[in-house]
Amino acid sequence: GPSRDEVIALRTQYVSPGVITYYKDPLMIVEGNMQYVWDEKGARYLDAFAGIVTVSVGHCHPKVIDKVRAQTGTLQHTTTIYLHPTIGKFAEKLASKMPEGLSRTYFTNSGSEANEVAILSAREHTGNTEVIALRNCYHGGTATTMGLTAHGSWKFKSNQAQAIHHTHAGYCYRCPYGLTYPSCDLKCAHDIKEVIEYQTPGEIACFIGEPIQGVGGTVVPPKEYFKIVYDIVRQHGGLCIADEVQGGFGRTGEHYWAHQNWDVVPDGVTMAKGIGNGIPLGAFTTTEEISKVMKNRIHFNTYGGNPISMTQGLATMEVIEEDGIQENARVVGGHLKSRLLELQERRPLIGDVRGMGLMLGVELVRDRKSKEPANTEAAAVMERMKEHGVLIGKGGLYGNTLRIKPPMCITKDDADYLIDALDLTLSELN
Ligand code: PMP
Repeated sequence: GPSRDEVIALRTQYVSPGVITYYKDPLMIVEGNMQYVWDEKGARYLDAFAGIVTVSVGHCHPKVIDKVRAQTGTLQHTTTIYLHPTIGKFAEKLASKMPEGLSRTYFTNSGSEANEVAILSAREHTGNTEVIALRNCYHGGTATTMGLTAHGSWKFKSNQAQAIHHTHAGYCYRCPYGLTYPSCDLKCAHDIKEVIEYQTPGEIACFIGEPIQGVGGTVVPPKEYFKIVYDIVRQHGGLCIADEVQGGFGRTGEHYWAHQNWDVVPDGVTMAKGIGNGIPLGAFTTTEEISKVMKNRIHFNTYGGNPISMTQGLATMEVIEEDGIQENARVVGGHLKSRLLELQERRPLIGDVRGMGLMLGVELVRDRKSKEPANTEAAAVMERMKEHGVLIGKGGLYGNTLRIKPPMCITKDDADYLIDALDLTLSELN
């Protein structure tokens, strides 16, 4: 294949500058197998970021690629204007995993598109326009979803979406009110009532929230947070949408869907990333009633529901069950978290350890009292971890939260290797 320098040269000359790479010395990946990837020199890395939380059951999982290879050799594409065998089977499988009543799926190619369809459906269904999202959230890069996304660095001045408001997320570590759970009485959750009543006509289309924020830095709200928010939203005529793009498909361990951790039932669920184990695939699943907004309308998505994605999605869901992936996320994730908490006791840079299953975040601070975000340190940790053979991500409003979200086939030994690498990295930084 081409050399790394040739790849960089072509990218620099012909690919949009909006396409960025991680690391000062960009990493080139040429091969993947389960939880590992290899660079062009043959060096192996433990992939603890999974192509941004996307490779859910493992790179090139044999059971998945066998089925997709067969499909690729038989039929790649027709569009949904013709019948093909897999779309119904996959939609049925999704419905079987959803909370009762959520049975109708619209397929897209990405999370952004899935969220577009969700917002459109909520607006059509309710006849209302206003949408409430969480501070610190990420929902995509298309017109509406960029408006939802509450990170300045991903917003473009010329692309202002209408009728979108933000409410406080349940970010206890940096409580906007300076309160402490549970004596705070969940003031952050009740904030949405004021947002709706003071900033909208009082009737809303929907609330959309990641049950655990991903890009936002693995923000895990108090357990009552979503129940309170959903109640207030419904009192104001709105639907509740759970963005499961990162948290779904067993990643949080205890439950298949991240929203189940909060004991709420959404009116619609959006999915992408892990659903396809690395292939472009997104979906919005909702109730029979809400899905009727699409009846007698033409809302077309050329690749939505294509045979390759449907086959890969269905195979991925089967592997999650056959390989005990969710249970592995719970057990190995639990082990990883307890070891991170141990590290926190010894490493002052670690301000907070958050997350569930294999959706973990480590917020770095320069000082535990002032909680000054250690963003340059987080970048340095990421760089050093790569040198120690471990790929992790980072995020959070201040770019100071390490994100650990590996393929869910990761073993306990991998987790220990990651912890040793992080421990060593932090010792080198101090
Ligand atoms: N929702 C969430 C929670 C995400 O993390 C992302 C992607 N980071 C999206 C939506 C958008 O997905 P996509 O990049 O596939 O459009």
